[in-house]
Amino acid sequence: MPEVMTIGEPMVNLIADSTETYLEARQLPRQMAGAEFNVAIGVSRQGHSIGYVTQLGDDWQGDLIVDYMNATGIDTSAIRRVSGAATGFQLKVRSSDGEPKVIYFRAGSAASKTTPDIVDDVDFTGVRILHVTGIFSALTDQTYETVNALVDAAKAHGVTVLFDPNPRPTLWPSQQAMIEATNRLAAKCDVFLPGLSEGQLFSGRQAPRDIADYYLDMGIGKIIVKLGDTGSVAFGRNADGGRTEVVVPSFVVDVVDTVGAGDGFASGVITGLLEDLDDDALLERANAVGAIQVTSVSDSEGLPTVEELRKFIAFTPRKEVEL
Ligand code: ADP
Repeated sequence: MPEVMTIGEPMVNLIADSTETYLEARQLPRQMAGAEFNVAIGVSRQGHSIGYVTQLGDDWQGDLIVDYMNATGIDTSAIRRVSGAATGFQLKVRSSDGEPKVIYFRAGSAASKTTPDIVDDVDFTGVRILHVTGIFSALTDQTYETVNALVDAAKAHGVTVLFDPNPRPTLWPSQQAMIEATNRLAAKCDVFLPGLSEGQLFSGRQAPRDIADYYLDMGIGKIIVKLGDTGSVAFGRNADGGRTEVVVPSFVVDVVDTVGAGDGFASGVITGLLEDLDDDALLERANAVGAIQVTSVSDSEGLPTVEELRKFIAFTPRKEVEL
């Protein structure tokens, strides 16, 4: 089985060939979308194996996604196909401010009907890292339970669990419900990966060090806070129980589309953990993948290979960062 597993809702992504409005679009070339899908592509391009757990409809979108994953080398053996519910898709149009507009067609999708027994289809042999996000766990009560069951099974197999909260407030009944459910899941994980504003929302604290203490006190081993376009910081505990801290600046790039920076970043964290990089090298890599990602309009097609990443890190100027 692959070194990494992820669970999520992959979607077909129809990207308008116009900017600002769909009305002028004449063509909608198809790509793939979904945060966990972007992470899977990132990990795979960086030379590591990853498998995807999900449920897809018995339809053309599902066929496209499975074919694409198979062609990319993403393991599809834990993907279920069901009839009676469609595979989700989305429409995306670029905008001049770098924040594209996206319309989703995913309500009641096959993925949103995933149940915890899908965990029985997952073979953990050889798996070292499980990546989960707050998106899939927000879809329905069943997907929340499914993510919990997968995390529990992974931990029972000694797998490191990495959690990117990736909040989707509109999918929850209230902000409080989202915060409580997210923190319950976070408490089970080994590596927690919030953006600064996400960390503030979920911990109720403002400064990165205070956010880190909140989650370190919960028993999470490593907290990595993304500091937006300036870089990132990793917190942990040393042998004496004191807080450790490593801050690493990001790179100077021209921004085209900010979607997927955090997913690219997560893929760099995952491969860095697999390769036992120290925190400086791990964050340098994760920052680099995030920075490369914002230079591409696609959610995943700009993600770098090992060689592209090496050259980018060697030749791209750094920004300044401080906590
Ligand atoms: P998210 O998609 O989760 O909001 P962020 O915007 O925090 O993710 O970006 C994740 C990481 O990607 C950042 O920590 C940084 O390393 C890198 N990054 C994001 N935006 C830029 C940018 N404009 N320039 C350089 N690096 C960036």
